[in-house]
Amino acid sequence: GCNFKSCFKKNWLLITTVVAVILGIGLGVLVREYAKLSTLDKFYFGFPGEILMRMLKLIILPLIISSMITGVAALDSSVSGKIGLRAVVYYFSTTIIAVILGIVLVMTIKPGMSQNAGDIDRTGSTPEVNTVDALLDLIRNMFPENLVQACFQQYKTVREELKSEPVVNSTTMSPVTVVMTTALQENITKNYKIVGLHSDGINVLGLIVFCLVFGIVIGQMGEKGRVLVDFFDAINEATMKIVQIIMCYMPIGIFFLIAAKIIEVEDWDIFRKLGLYMVTVLTGLAIHAIVCLPLLYFIIVRKNPLTFAMGMAQALLTALMISSSSATLPVTFQCAEENNRVDKRITRFVLPVGATINMDGTALYEAVAAIFIAQLNNYALDIGQIVTISITATAASIGAAGVPQAGLVTMVIVLSAVGLPANDVTLIIAVDWLLDRFRTMINVLGDAYGAGIVEKLSKKELERMDLSSGVDVVNPF
Ligand code: ASP
Repeated sequence: GCNFKSCFKKNWLLITTVVAVILGIGLGVLVREYAKLSTLDKFYFGFPGEILMRMLKLIILPLIISSMITGVAALDSSVSGKIGLRAVVYYFSTTIIAVILGIVLVMTIKPGMSQNAGDIDRTGSTPEVNTVDALLDLIRNMFPENLVQACFQQYKTVREELKSEPVVNSTTMSPVTVVMTTALQENITKNYKIVGLHSDGINVLGLIVFCLVFGIVIGQMGEKGRVLVDFFDAINEATMKIVQIIMCYMPIGIFFLIAAKIIEVEDWDIFRKLGLYMVTVLTGLAIHAIVCLPLLYFIIVRKNPLTFAMGMAQALLTALMISSSSATLPVTFQCAEENNRVDKRITRFVLPVGATINMDGTALYEAVAAIFIAQLNNYALDIGQIVTISITATAASIGAAGVPQAGLVTMVIVLSAVGLPANDVTLIIAVDWLLDRFRTMINVLGDAYGAGIVEKLSKKELERMDLSSGVDVVNPF
């Protein structure tokens, strides 16, 4: 039986985090109402939360590297190929399901029809993103040119307009030359210089690709490779111990994070204006989380999907609070392995990759947002454009890093692909911080179910490996 005491003992972290969220919201509302805080005070207020974020981000690097390398090295290369393929098929199909769900909803609810774009402030600036550049950057990031740099910088193309020198001098040139040179100059100013810029944030994709290759190689090196595998295995174990320590601080950090956010938000009114749009996104995310993913899990794994989701509760709550799948990754690991008992050989492999490229929530969101913006502009989309939106939304979700509001930046890829004004991203910026939290939560849930499903599909291979390693114990070498 589960009496109150044992129940609390088992779930103390989850319970304290939930209490922290509620108290944090309460405190935020109170401070907003009764205290006049200066901008600086507001800044100080979020400090304990900032420390939590720093700790979580700190642990991402050793966690991803050690888990990927040991994960791949532990598998036979034929087995890892099969598991990898299954994971990719899972990522891809669930992302497409999410996109289609989003498109169906936004075309039924039509949140953009009830208002026009003029009602909403166009504030903020749009990042310069171009579809081709974004896709090339995605591939570029897979092949980092410098491993150390990949640990703190991600590649991002920035276009800088070519500034031409004023060479036209009408006093010394014939009129014809002046006309020609001016035309030439206009042509030049339309060109862009492409500058490779490194934004901050870990190039997780690049590290994953490298660790994948490195893991396979040392896994096949036999005796010599063994040293390295053991080394990274030990790092992995130590990292997970540190994660447990960080998680003890989590309720405190989250309490201040959410309170500070509530104090900080300036425009609550925009929520009323964009209400129907938000309802559309949230409905889509909810259906994906409550119907699509659990159904798929149930059909394949034949276990209770609700129990599985409950096991992930701490990770889902963390994602909701910090809106970053990468920074949630340590908690996702902890929940999947400790609560849901997913095989470590699967999680080590499926979770880091999933946190980076599998973003069902983001994909759904991008499709809804793009069509919403089309509706605002009274822009009728044909079937070809809708297909384009589904493809680019999928690509944009793969390209988005697992950091807060990354989806908003890659959104521009979707918009420009169907000829919508990229600047209109600014229409939805004001509410993005909130939607970001929910889509991140769904992203994390998708990764977790993925681990469960891939584990089930790979049962045979895993059992075979257990058997052969059993032989190893009897007769080592
Ligand atoms: N914040 C999301 C994540 O980390 C990405 C996004 O902006 O959609 O998963």
